[in-house]
Amino acid sequence: MRRKIIAGNWKMYKTVAEAVELAGGLKKELGGFEGCDVVICPTFVCLTEVSKVVAGSCVKLGAQNLYWEAEGAFTGEISGAMVKSTGAQYVIIGHSERRQYFGETNETVSKRIKAALKNGLLPIVCVGENLAEREGGKTFDVVKDHVTGSLAGLTKEEMNKIVLAYEPVWAIGTGKTATSAQAQEVHAYIRKVLAGMFDQEVASATRIQYGGSVKPENAAELMGQADIDGALVGGASLKADSFAAIIKNAVK
Ligand code: PEP
Repeated sequence: MRRKIIAGNWKMYKTVAEAVELAGGLKKELGGFEGCDVVICPTFVCLTEVSKVVAGSCVKLGAQNLYWEAEGAFTGEISGAMVKSTGAQYVIIGHSERRQYFGETNETVSKRIKAALKNGLLPIVCVGENLAEREGGKTFDVVKDHVTGSLAGLTKEEMNKIVLAYEPVWAIGTGKTATSAQAQEVHAYIRKVLAGMFDQEVASATRIQYGGSVKPENAAELMGQADIDGALVGGASLKADSFAAIIKNAVK
């Protein structure tokens, strides 16, 4: 039985003070909640302060990216060890906004995953097609390419530490959610790809989140699908009450 995992991607929103307030609000909303894993991913500059707020609670911390080199003359970059030193346990890797605006490729995603694992961080690896690819009937090809390219060379033991997030790009921040049937179809397909790359045990054990305009109103139906094991939430994670409602509805 896969334990559900709901993560909030705060993207480039919230100053340190605002992030501390939001994390405190979420902690209060959730109280002693134990129904699933909960992760919030603020910007790098907020990690240390937010870590202090959520310490000892059910809310875990994640970063939104990292660089694969251990250290050096890489102005503006953050290493895995640096992320880890903030108290973060997770890191989002290969988000479509990074693929779209910052030149992220399967190769760089793969390097970042390996750096995360080396530093004891749990990667949340994003895959998904854009609108043109969906309309062109390329969804399965693109998803297969992202999954196989990003996870190439990993061992089965390493796969135990990885969470995948299927995020159709056309549903991110658009208010357009994939139907539960559309999402389930791709999640089941991803499991098939994992079985081919690794084995059935890895395919059955890997947690696959759905991401793309998840809201309190659609969380229960999406999370009720057989192969959907949680959500990666953008916009609706920026308010404590809506994110808490998604989390509670997801495990109903
Ligand atoms: C995301 O940023 O990963 C995301 C799914 O955003 P939203 O929930 O706003 O669509």
